[in-house]
Amino acid sequence: MEKILISACLVGDKVRYDGKSQYHPLVKELLQKYELVPFCPEVEGGLTTPRVPSEISKGKVLNKEGRDVTRQFQTGAELALNICKYLQIKIAILKDGSPSCGSSEIHDGRFTGRMIKGKGITTTLLEQNGIKIYNENEIEELLK
Ligand code: SF4
Repeated sequence: MEKILISACLVGDKVRYDGKSQYHPLVKELLQKYELVPFCPEVEGGLTTPRVPSEISKGKVLNKEGRDVTRQFQTGAELALNICKYLQIKIAILKDGSPSCGSSEIHDGRFTGRMIKGKGITTTLLEQNGIKIYNENEIEELLK
């Protein structure tokens, strides 16, 4: 079975900043076709759950209290890439909208709730290394 890296929150792990998961109902179907490797870059990068939400602003990642968490986000991205290389993973399904896992949109960096076009830190690094990224709205393409 081909392996796919997947945002841990999408398989039901309670790793989001608010301590909740983001379970996706198509995960069950994915498991019939692929071996899923759940991973949360923010947790693996050293942040706690729950945690203060963070957004990307001018090349840095800042949390809502103004703390610079860029290093933790980068560490999480590098660990995600390491796993992909080690397990020869070529596809990742990442939760859109996240400052780590977003692929089409992210928050605007001002904690206003507004979304803008953009990619998360992990998404960017994986893409730069040839890994094909799907978000949760594109899972059906992998089930055809
Ligand atoms: S960093 Fe990614 S895997 Fe972790 S909670 Fe956020 S969207 Fe889910």
